[in-house]
Amino acid sequence: MRKIERVYVGGKRVVPHGTELFHLYNPSEEKIIGQVRLADEQDARAAIAAAKAAQAPLSRTSKAERIDMLRQLHAEIERRHKAIMLASMLEYGAPAKRAEAAARHATQSLADAIEILKSYEFERKAGTADVVMRPIGVAGLITPWNSNAGFICSKVAYALAAGCASIVKPSEMSAFQTDVVIDAFLAAGLPPGVVNILTGRGETVGTVLTSHPDVAKISFTGSTAVGKQILRAGAETCKRVTLELGGKSPTIILDDANLEKAIPMAIAAGFINSGQACLAGTRILVPRSIQPAAEELIRRTVEATRVGRPDDADAVIGPMVSQKQWERVQRYIRTGVAAGARLLTGGEGRPKDLPRGWFVRPTVFTDVRNDMQIAQEEIFGPVLSVLPYDNEEEAISIANDTTYGLQGYVFSADTQRALRVAEEIEAGRIQVNTLTHEPLAPFGGVKQSGIGRENGVYGLEAFLEPKAILTAI
Ligand code: NAD
Repeated sequence: MRKIERVYVGGKRVVPHGTELFHLYNPSEEKIIGQVRLADEQDARAAIAAAKAAQAPLSRTSKAERIDMLRQLHAEIERRHKAIMLASMLEYGAPAKRAEAAARHATQSLADAIEILKSYEFERKAGTADVVMRPIGVAGLITPWNSNAGFICSKVAYALAAGCASIVKPSEMSAFQTDVVIDAFLAAGLPPGVVNILTGRGETVGTVLTSHPDVAKISFTGSTAVGKQILRAGAETCKRVTLELGGKSPTIILDDANLEKAIPMAIAAGFINSGQACLAGTRILVPRSIQPAAEELIRRTVEATRVGRPDDADAVIGPMVSQKQWERVQRYIRTGVAAGARLLTGGEGRPKDLPRGWFVRPTVFTDVRNDMQIAQEEIFGPVLSVLPYDNEEEAISIANDTTYGLQGYVFSADTQRALRVAEEIEAGRIQVNTLTHEPLAPFGGVKQSGIGRENGVYGLEAFLEPKAILTAI
């Protein structure tokens, strides 16, 4: 069993003051595979002090110097692509293809930040004033378990590009990925304190970060419930926040859509990252006039979707990350049945051929009403709802009848019609007749899916604040 006993503070790997040991599991086997020694409040304060000491010199670095640091990091992360991938397959159960994409996200975001930084104008004019975009200050970066290495790298990439020293608090459940990332940061030889990484609990390390007066900015990816706690904790010191939270994204299939193309994409959107994705399209809106044909295709597509262990090359859906998450998904399946939704495929329990591991049967409910719990709450597993609608106006109204607003999907044979519908959906990002990713496009949500945007120039500006200089002529 592997034991991870050190954190990265002040440019070194050090043993934390905290002594609590946290079990790490292989979710495909329900087996303990390691332990991580958790940092505590005292470690968090030490990391903040290290970042604070690094902040002033970092804010004075030139663009070229920051690009240099980012290039070093990029090279070291890229060198560990396979190790990041294997760590996420092991501790998170990500199917190989998904793990590969997540590891690529880590490298790509560093490359993107370099390109953005190259052409970004930090100085501009506003009337007679000179405006300089200044780093906000020390940043606390908090990541979830569903793409830990990727989020650490994307948040650090833009914080560093902006000139913000940071303290990263990764998810407790992702210590293997974090350890590989720390290796890369050490090898990159960044100045001490510019980035600090410590695994610890949200209630301890997280709370210190979100309330400490020397932390100016929090960039958080995680649940809406914790996002709200972070807003409250940061209010006292007026922290700037970027909150990337949950979702219950609608997929609108319009009546002219080519179902043979649209349905497989809708199902893939629902099952992204084994259903454990903030942007998963979990509410599929289908015209009542074509409901039987759509349902039949949905059922066939889902039943052909392979659930399996990460080393099963054909697997699309892996296990849930933890027993708690598995039980939560099972509870939601029971909730759907109890509410009177019709089970189209799947249901409670494990797939027949996977008696061990936190695997879930890919499940689709139909005749779901949007006021049902399964249509309103983020389940975070491969459980989808089909909601019939009578006309376009009703589809838009159902799509927007949610507290979330992260992403939306529209499928139609008529792109202009799909774009008109997309215009009406309240969400930070819409995919029209596609499932794609654009790393330079702003990413983030409206309503309770978050505050602010990440990625590209928007991601850089999330760590900057304008300072106006007015000079006597
Ligand atoms: P979570 O909110 O439970 O935890 C996220 C992180 O916050 C972890 O590192 C955790 O330790 C920390 N944390 C917990 N309590 C805290 C506190 N009081 N103060 C500070 N930090 C605290 O989320 P999770 O279960 O790890 O991840 C799944 C959630 O993340 C889902 O809701 C998903 O939608 C969301 N998510 C959103 C995005 C996005 O970009 N919008 C991306 C991925 C995941």
